[in-house]
Amino acid sequence: MSASETAQKVVTRFAPSPTGYLHIGGARTALFNFLFARHHGGQYLVRIEDTDKKRSTPEAIEAIHDGLDWLGLLGDEEPVFQSQRAGRHAEVAQQLLDKGAAYKCYLTSEELTARREAAQAAKKPFRLNSEWRDCQPGPEQEGQPFVVRLKTPNEGESVIEDMVQGRISVKNDEIDDFILLRSDGTPTYMLAVVVDDHDMGVTHILRGDDHLNNAFRQLPLIKAMGWPEPTYGHVPLIHGADGAKLSKRHGALGVDAYRDEMGLLPEAVFNYLLRLGWGHGDEEIISRTRAIELFDAGGIGKSPSRFDTKKLLNLNGHYIREADNARLAELVAAEAGASSDEDKALLTRAMPELKARARDLHELAAGATFLFKSRPLQMEEKAAGLLDDEARKNLALAHAALSDVPRWEIEDVESAIREVADQAELKLGKLAQPLRAALTGSNTSPGIFDVLALLGREESLARIADQMRNAE
Ligand code: GLU
Repeated sequence: MSASETAQKVVTRFAPSPTGYLHIGGARTALFNFLFARHHGGQYLVRIEDTDKKRSTPEAIEAIHDGLDWLGLLGDEEPVFQSQRAGRHAEVAQQLLDKGAAYKCYLTSEELTARREAAQAAKKPFRLNSEWRDCQPGPEQEGQPFVVRLKTPNEGESVIEDMVQGRISVKNDEIDDFILLRSDGTPTYMLAVVVDDHDMGVTHILRGDDHLNNAFRQLPLIKAMGWPEPTYGHVPLIHGADGAKLSKRHGALGVDAYRDEMGLLPEAVFNYLLRLGWGHGDEEIISRTRAIELFDAGGIGKSPSRFDTKKLLNLNGHYIREADNARLAELVAAEAGASSDEDKALLTRAMPELKARARDLHELAAGATFLFKSRPLQMEEKAAGLLDDEARKNLALAHAALSDVPRWEIEDVESAIREVADQAELKLGKLAQPLRAALTGSNTSPGIFDVLALLGREESLARIADQMRNAE
């Protein structure tokens, strides 16, 4: 940023329309605005753009709140609700009328349609040219419905120095006199956004590049009010791995699905979203603190980024391995079947082994269920397949050796099992696989010695004995 920009306090905002869940693109916009503000020591605000009363639902507002909360991206202040500011929006429209920067347009919808159709028939682009722009209403307009339109300049060009897209210009005659207030007196989106951004003191706007066209309409409105222009950064949208626009099929889910269905940690999603369209050299693992330190608009890519579920899961695996064991235990306790405090303590103890193998919290929970299964264990199909007669005999050998272990520590159980294998001239796997089946009911688990140590002497011996007996 230039010196004059840094001199002012940076204020950013995330302005979702609550017509659905917080989707991944929205979450990334929130993240970029949050980081930009934090990086520049500024403020990050949230505005709920709930003016579309039919489509905005309380459930969507809650889902957005929860999603932002989970990612640590709630605003620095209580959110602003756009719908509550209609009076203020109308006031600004009136000010624009008073200064002659806007006008009451009495064209009826029939007249507009006729003009549109005439343009179509003549194969010309439709450009509204309202005669009301320079004409005062007479007595016959008294009581007639009107809309308020902005008098946008017809000559010259408008320029945006976009933080992401660079310099972009549009000829002013391409921008029509758009509506500020509808005939029922309600503000349009275009008016509401500009007034709210101004009143909230927003200095920098990072948003999807689908809003770039809007920026060229918002600018003349800002100029007409004599307000400072915000600095824009229009971020390319997210595409699927195949390059097509992101859809549900690609993982365009609500943030709640990332948490609940995919079992992701918020810090992993945070890191992933950051890297999705922003980069700093080839750093992949970037913590929240480091992101705040590094983030600037210069690192935002100019082309659409591709959503990659595999990368996201790999990153999640990394953050699971980094995460605190007690926290992970708490997160997966219910799903793993741990109910008592004792169960949770066991789960925490098992975590270093369990988390090394999981890429998401559901895998982590599934890997932990063996700890809390009740006897006799239900064998998964593959585990049952491991327990043939020979395997059951080997289980009996292991049981005998383990019964004599004086101290139930991982080293002691390990040397007991290795000794049995040596004496019986068995490969370790010949003992380990049936033991795994007997102890966990599954053919995959953490290392078998860890499993023995975690389950403890009594439970381990009993589980092994259950499967020996089955052979009889
Ligand atoms: N409410 C708009 C949206 O959800 C964003 C408006 C803006 O960022 O200016 O797409």
